[in-house]
Amino acid sequence: MYPKPIKDFIDNFSKLPGIGPRQAARLAFWLLNGEKNIRENLKKSLEGLSKEIKTCQRCYFAIENNGNDKCHFCDNSGRDHKTICVVEKETDLATIEKSGNYKGLYHVLGGLFSALDTAIPKNLKMPELISRLEENKKNASKGVKEIILALSPTHEGDLTAHYLERLLKPLKIKITRIGRGLPYGADVEFADAQTLSGALDSRKEIK
Ligand SMILES: [Zn+2]
Repeated sequence: MYPKPIKDFIDNFSKLPGIGPRQAARLAFWLLNGEKNIRENLKKSLEGLSKEIKTCQRCYFAIENNGNDKCHFCDNSGRDHKTICVVEKETDLATIEKSGNYKGLYHVLGGLFSALDTAIPKNLKMPELISRLEENKKNASKGVKEIILALSPTHEGDLTAHYLERLLKPLKIKITRIGRGLPYGADVEFADAQTLSGALDSRKEIK
């Protein structure tokens, strides 16, 4: 029904989370009928994501591709390097950071276990977390003292947390999980600062 470039746009944009074909079509016509510089800026932003962003080699948070290998958290000696907060995704990290109650480092897993598939997901940065902790352990002054699992209280979050607990146990580091205030099924990303701050304070040790 639509000309090919519009059809292609709809096909690509409806692959994005939360966007269906109808919304993608509406977006296509909005962009088409709008000012040209909006399309140009959007094009530049998409190119920027491909060319100018890479991930921190320690915590896997996004950083600018400008010769630096570490993010501004990992590279900041003013942060508490003995505490690592494990999050599902970058936007969860941003929410925790905005709560203002956390001064440690992070580790972005890049996803959670699936409730439908029992296989251990290969793309999660779990082996990277282990090697990061083992590497730290060799240096007594750098040794990590606490791992905070800040995973959403959902079935997927629970599955991932239980697996990580088993995986991390032999390293004999204190493991805690954020607690009170977040209702079951909530997403860390959408928690307000006060709730998240309380959940961090009420984190419980997993033994
Ligand atoms: Zn980092």
